[in-house]
Amino acid sequence: MQEKAHEDYMRAFLYLQKKRGMLSQSELASYLGISKAGVSEMMHILSKKGLVKKAAYKPPALTKKGEALAKKMTFKHRLIEHFLASKLKMPAKKVHKEAEMLEHALSDDAAGRLYKFLGKPKKDPHGSPICP
Ligand SMILES: [Zn+2]
Repeated sequence: MQEKAHEDYMRAFLYLQKKRGMLSQSELASYLGISKAGVSEMMHILSKKGLVKKAAYKPPALTKKGEALAKKMTFKHRLIEHFLASKLKMPAKKVHKEAEMLEHALSDDAAGRLYKFLGKPKKDPHGSPICP
């Protein structure tokens, strides 16, 4: 399993957990466009890495470590979207795909510098908070 896929999952996790108050594997599967079996397998790997808590008869949840990673990835994603829209004048509907690729390449240091360079923006082009 690749680091990039983990990071995508963590970001999707945080998004759905915040939106619904809890996670369901089937919702995650449809959101990410993968099979339920694929989600179960990923949950297993992420829980081994200490990013997700899994207990019998309970919905999965992010651990503290998982939540920190998810927030960091969301921050990078939205920051890049803001940069692409505001500085490169890329249409808002195009920035998401681009940010999905770039978020994995941006170091924490560069992200922090970009955040300052952009004047610590509050919202991404879709209106979501840059700092989740
Ligand atoms: Zn996006």
